[in-house]
Order: sequence, then structure tokens, then C-alpha cells
Amino acid sequence: MSATAASVTRHDWSLAEVKALFEQPFNDLIFQAQGVHRQHFDANRVQVSTLLSIKTGACPEDCKYCPQSGHYNTGLDKEKLMEVQKVLDAAAEAKAIGSTRFCMGAAWKHPSAKDMPYVLKMVEGVKALGLETCMTLGKLDQEQTKALAAAGLDYYNHNLDTSPEFYGNIITTRTYADRLETLSYVRESGMKICSGGILGMGESLDDRAGLLIQLANLPEHPESVPINMLVKVKGTPLAEEQDVDPFDFIRMLAVARIMMPRSHVRLSAGREQMNEQMQALAFLAGANSIFYGEKLLTTGNPQADKDMLLFKRLGIQPEAREEHDDEVHQAAIEQALVEQRDSKLFVNAAV
Ligand code: SF4
Repeated sequence: MSATAASVTRHDWSLAEVKALFEQPFNDLIFQAQGVHRQHFDANRVQVSTLLSIKTGACPEDCKYCPQSGHYNTGLDKEKLMEVQKVLDAAAEAKAIGSTRFCMGAAWKHPSAKDMPYVLKMVEGVKALGLETCMTLGKLDQEQTKALAAAGLDYYNHNLDTSPEFYGNIITTRTYADRLETLSYVRESGMKICSGGILGMGESLDDRAGLLIQLANLPEHPESVPINMLVKVKGTPLAEEQDVDPFDFIRMLAVARIMMPRSHVRLSAGREQMNEQMQALAFLAGANSIFYGEKLLTTGNPQADKDMLLFKRLGIQPEAREEHDDEVHQAAIEQALVEQRDSKLFVNAAV
């Protein structure tokens, strides 16, 4: 396929086809991905989300990469479900610094009946501020997805993490089928899906291709596809894993872009270890969404003002919501970012 050939939205990718995409010469792959990207997006806009942990640590799941799992001793400060008003205050601050989407994460196996009313109030309140809403709360049943959709939740994040074949090496307390079931309930309820995975857990190329095949061959592509680089946290079983070759990470973004041409591909956890050149290459490969704020999940995130400086140097504008005048929006972001440095609100967000 040439970079200018019309990209087609497909749901029937085979392993051989996807591996062939990965195995192209790097320049050919990036050229193709950028060509696909430009057919569906402004190549100089990047969507910006803010992520807040609304409940941190002591998670009963055993995801081997995660410092929030109660199975590992990582020294993480555990926090109970945040008060609704504190969440709304953080959302208002995120809006003031230019985020268009506010993602709330809780380290749960699934939300309990006791917690659901608070969670729904958070969704309603954040929505009322004029932000897009996103949550990640673990496994959901149909009643819960319906209630969240009715409260105004726009996106639900539930990552597949890796291929079905490799999954059992990473998580044993929740099945791949459980994850796919939650995604199907989210889709049925009318919410948008945010789902992706992690590189650097010891997976093979087939596993990376297998993850993208699972996502792209869903009946509808996830609207948002976070691609994470493992952040190795002491105390977790994956703390000593080998680093991913940076070019292999960029290849993953490019192949995701080609396979899911209309999705936002998000450069997520692990961005702090990436230098500016690598982030620029990631945008060239078709990544068009990032998180900013003081912290991403339980790991450091490059300071938000650094992000804006990089955007400036690359001529990238944050993807604005329609009601914003771009110049005013940009100025507000830059000013508020300076003020945000001392904020303690953006802490330890959950997966
Ligand atoms: S990734 Fe999510 S489900 Fe897994 S241990 Fe961490 S918080 Fe729990």
C-alpha cells in the first residue's frame, strides 16, 4: 500500500498481514502511517486528556506490571475513593489548563454497589463542567454500563494489555474473555471505548500483532487506543524486564495507526522515559493523543509545561473542543500550566 492510497477501515486482519506491516523498512512504515493519519486527522493536532486516580492501590487483581496491585509490595500510598467534590475541583482545574477530557481511574476488580452512586455523581459533575468524561473502574456488568452511560460517561477505558496467548503470563485473576465481555457491554450501552496495551512485558512480535488484531477486529474499533511502554516499578514482577527498542515502540504506534485509521492513538505510560525526539517520531507515526498533568497513573509524567513547549517547537496545537477559540485556548493553557506546577491535585491516577 502506498502512503496516499485510501485507507480502509477493516475488521479482518490476519497475523501474517500485520507482521508484514511491522517488518517493513522503518521509513516505509512511517511514511504509510503518516499518509493514513492525514486522511483522517489534522496531523498537527494532538488531543490532551488529564488523568486522576479516584481510588489508589490495594487492587485485588495481580497484573504483573502494576504498582497498584495488592499482590506486590511497591510502597505505594493507598487511598480510598476520593470525595466527589475533590474530584470535581480537580476536573475544574484540568479544564482551566486546557484538557478536553477528564479520565478518572479506580484500582478495583469491579465497582461495588456501595461505590456506584458516588461514581455516578462524579460523572454527572464532570460532564456538567463541559468536559468529556472517561472512567476506568475494572470489570463492569450490563447494569453498571447502562447506569454510567445514563449519567453521561463518554468513554470507558478497559485495556486488553497484550495478546490472548501471552495474557496468562501477566494476569491470572481476570480472564481475557472477561475483558472482551466488559468491552461488549460498554459498546452496547452506547459509550465509546478506550482500549490498548503495554509493550515491554517480555512479549513477542506475534503478541504485539495479536493485541492489535484483537482491537482492530472488534465489531467497531475503539475510539481511543492507548499504547503504553512498561514503566518498571520496583516490587512488581516485571521490574527487571528488558527495555523495548525505541524503534519497535514507534513501529507499534505506526501499525496501530494503519489498522485503526480513525481512532485516536494515545502515547500513554512510559512517555517520561522518551526523549523529545522520540515523542516527535511518535506523533509522526500517527500518535495523536497524550495525557498531561503532574502524574500519569502511579508513575511520573513529563511536566505539562514541557509538553506545551514541545508542542510549540513542533508546531502542534492541542485538539480543542469546538467551543474554544484556539488562540484564547492556547494562551489559557500556557498560563495555567505555570500555575499548575505546585498543584497537588494530579496524583497517582489509576489504570
Ligand atoms: S492494572 Fe488495574 S486491575 Fe490490574 S492491578 Fe492495576 S489497578 Fe488493578
